[in-house]
Amino acid sequence: MIDAAALYWKNRLVRCKKALEQNNFEVFLAEDPDEARHIVMTGLLPKLAPKTVSWGDSETLHATGVLKKIQEEPHIKVIVTFAHDIPRDEILERRRQALLVDLFFTGTNALTEKGQLVNLDMIGNRVGGITFGPKNVVLLVGRNKIVPDVESAMHRIRNYTAPLNAIRHAGFKTPCRKTSYCMDCTSPDRICNTWSITEKSYPKGRIKVILINTDLGL
Ligand code: SF4
Repeated sequence: MIDAAALYWKNRLVRCKKALEQNNFEVFLAEDPDEARHIVMTGLLPKLAPKTVSWGDSETLHATGVLKKIQEEPHIKVIVTFAHDIPRDEILERRRQALLVDLFFTGTNALTEKGQLVNLDMIGNRVGGITFGPKNVVLLVGRNKIVPDVESAMHRIRNYTAPLNAIRHAGFKTPCRKTSYCMDCTSPDRICNTWSITEKSYPKGRIKVILINTDLGL
């Protein structure tokens, strides 16, 4: 029997791959998080040979297990930018250092069918790393991040991704934790501070996108 859903998403992912490639991104297709990890560990890592690696937080990235594997590599220094037992000042300093690594991993909040990446950040370390600094960037992207255009991407992020992200942080006091949609708040805990729209990869191929045929992340 035909797996219609898998075929449906495969078609859409192939279209997104073509659009991203036209925008100078290097693109890979994976059926699931395990295949995405395989692409990184056996394809990208040997080719790029990074000495330093770090990341901007992403549920999709964690789902692939890539970071855990890379931390086992003896010749790679991993700058850990998320840990509950490290003081906040030290974490922020590490996130600054992470902007100069050889290889930076993260996800994207949305991917348009025209091949654009749309992101919204609280601190800016994720959109910073995508935009400039790390020599190479690898984005792990689940199929659920695909939207038709930038307007739909911004709507999705404001009214789904950001409130859900705020709800995940029990200590945050943003109104969207109660409303489940954006109130364009003035809260000191506001997690929506910097937008980035990445139209193209510059230089060509600097940003690599692994499209995964699975729903992953927010
Ligand atoms: S701007 Fe404020 S209310 Fe809107 S999603 Fe962000 S944190 Fe929530």
